[in-house]
Amino acid sequence: MSDALHLASPSRVPRRRTAGPVAGGSPADVSEPSAASKPARLESVRLSKSYRKGRVTIPVLRGVDMQVRDGEFLAIIGQSGSGKSTLLHLLGTLDAPDEGEVRCDGQRIDNLPAAKRDQLRNQRIGMIFQFYHLLPEFSALENVLSPLMIASGAWRYFRSRRAHLTKAKELLELVGLGHRLKHKPRELSGGEMQRAAIARALVAGPDVLLADEPTGNLDRSTGQEILKILRTLNRQQGLTIVMVTHDLAIAEQADRVVRLVEGQVQQA
Ligand code: ADP
Ligand code: MG
Repeated sequence: MSDALHLASPSRVPRRRTAGPVAGGSPADVSEPSAASKPARLESVRLSKSYRKGRVTIPVLRGVDMQVRDGEFLAIIGQSGSGKSTLLHLLGTLDAPDEGEVRCDGQRIDNLPAAKRDQLRNQRIGMIFQFYHLLPEFSALENVLSPLMIASGAWRYFRSRRAHLTKAKELLELVGLGHRLKHKPRELSGGEMQRAAIARALVAGPDVLLADEPTGNLDRSTGQEILKILRTLNRQQGLTIVMVTHDLAIAEQADRVVRLVEGQVQQA
């Protein structure tokens, strides 16, 4: 696959901030004078979450402390049922913790009003999932455009339609799906759907990408292609990534791996 070659131009993914990773090295290894004092791009502080089913309480997270730095690719590994999706949903403000905080660039985000959280997810936090969650009636291109439609509202979206289209097409080319713009999800393979989902997650130029088992539904070589796209986006564009997975071979390709065990994060 030559997809990584499509990712050669750093100017092509719209980004809010420049992380400035060094080619061939992990951004996490770059020690700038200000790096130590800079707040984590995304962090959780003593995060706890239980689910209640009737009278039964299922404690899932029991005080999770984790940080991901700007430009870092962090993998969180854990067995099935260990709370990986729960944690990622809390980091992405899709759900609220019972206790603890989630902070983005030092600012608390878990307790924002719903409209602010929607805006945050639309513009600053991109998410991809094991089962892609593409809109079935939309083409690949329309799926990628959908966050921009939501962000702009009909009138503003229409006025900037040409620029949005160009951006969405460039992103689909970047992830190697430029030849499937009009295909609907049911006409795409699993790997192709995940490529479309990555393009959709990046279209608003997020500060961080959250990936929930992004290779979990794919065969090993297709999963590896997806990982290569994420790895290249991180190295070449400085995209901050938090990926959860149960697969050690996948996790080990990140800059750093932590383990979710009995509701807490341990250094792997
Ligand atoms: P993982 O992603 O690591 O497989 P999850 O975060 O999906 O784990 O789930 C962790 C635990 O919480 C599991 O035991 C699961 O059954 C339980 N759980 C997840 N979501 C809910 C829910 N909405 N209601 C009740 N229990 C849940
Ligand atoms: Mg899960």
